[in-house]
Amino acid sequence: SSKPLDGRVAVVTGASSGIGAATAVRLAADGARVALLARRADRLAEVAATIGDAALPLTVDVTDPSALDAAAKTVEAEFGPADLVVANAGVMLVAPFAEGRRDEWATMLSLNVMGVLDTARVFLPQLLTAADAGGNADLVIVSSLGARQFSPGFGVYSVTKAGVSALAASLRAEFADRGLRVTNVEPGVTDSELGDRILHDEWRTMLAEHKAQMNALSAADIADAIADATARSRNVHIRELIVHPLS
Ligand code: NDP
Repeated sequence: SSKPLDGRVAVVTGASSGIGAATAVRLAADGARVALLARRADRLAEVAATIGDAALPLTVDVTDPSALDAAAKTVEAEFGPADLVVANAGVMLVAPFAEGRRDEWATMLSLNVMGVLDTARVFLPQLLTAADAGGNADLVIVSSLGARQFSPGFGVYSVTKAGVSALAASLRAEFADRGLRVTNVEPGVTDSELGDRILHDEWRTMLAEHKAQMNALSAADIADAIADATARSRNVHIRELIVHPLS
């Protein structure tokens, strides 16, 4: 029986946990072959094992442009040109601004902004090849509600997410007439490992307590939205997905 993403070649960055892992699993369930990129080889292997033959796990640090270039070549050699790229890898290092934790600012700017730019850069030729061939071609950027909702301690994270939301809009304007769809996803609070990686102990604990009180989305909820938007017929462009829990 045919599936909505049969024949598609997907790439998901940050596919070793959370939203990226759920998205890779969902895209594969819908018929796509999926390259999974992240740093933790053991976790990538676990996700790939649940997918089976349609998975191509690649241990890549998205902040390393030459590693990304190599990954793009491997994907094309193994699967053909990617036509569904999900730039998802990101980190949220919240802390009081006054502490001036510049190393954490640099980590967020490098992964959440430069990592997304480089992901788009290395896969753009493949996406345009797929679009030229007349099929669907999708670049999905996983931004955040933090691009438009501003809270104490989230300043630099919001800088990065507002930045990539702006990038999505600009790339859309630049490439729509080439047949490339750009979908910007802004999830609300979602269960994942994102908060566990906060380096400021007090804020990590505080946010975990806050999140426990909230009705969070599951990573699969975001994956569903991405799979749905990218499976639409070529002329239908779901440009933005703002996904919140109901209350
Ligand atoms: P997770 O921490 O579970 O996932 C982050 C992923 O990014 C992991 O697979 C991690 O894998 C990967 N990653 C981190 N650093 C790098 C790197 N240098 N190179 C390659 N991969 C990297 O969190 P989420 O699933 O929540 O986060 C995914 C995206 O969703 C992020 O961009 C986040 O900002 C966004 N988001 C999340 C929300 C939430 O509430 N959870 C809300 C809104 C947006 P590894 O460590 O193995 O490299």
